[in-house]
Amino acid sequence: MEDPTTFDVWIERLRRDGPTVEDIMGDSRTALTRLQLLKEIARSKSEQGPLLLAQDAPWSKVGEVRKRLRERGLNAVAIQADYPFAERWSMSRCETYDLFYAGVLECPVCGGRGAP
Ligand SMILES: [Zn+2]
Repeated sequence: MEDPTTFDVWIERLRRDGPTVEDIMGDSRTALTRLQLLKEIARSKSEQGPLLLAQDAPWSKVGEVRKRLRERGLNAVAIQADYPFAERWSMSRCETYDLFYAGVLECPVCGGRGAP
């Protein structure tokens, strides 16, 4: 059986006075450590570049992180794990779940292949 698809969660840009790691993540756990997240946030703020918030996350975790971000007025972008943020527009996009995935076949979450 094919492994379930996991996702990376990104924010396109974070203002210099934007939220802290605690604001964003709360008690959500992802494959990134707190130290990795702190580094990512610092880099994103100084470069005004995209911020990787969660790596290799199951679909349910993507939902948690997104909800938390929406409450803070931030829009998170979900991309199939291991694909760069900059390449998302060359990928397929699911309108139902607002995510980017590789390949031209059915979206992994709609197709029931998103890890629970
Ligand atoms: Zn879908």
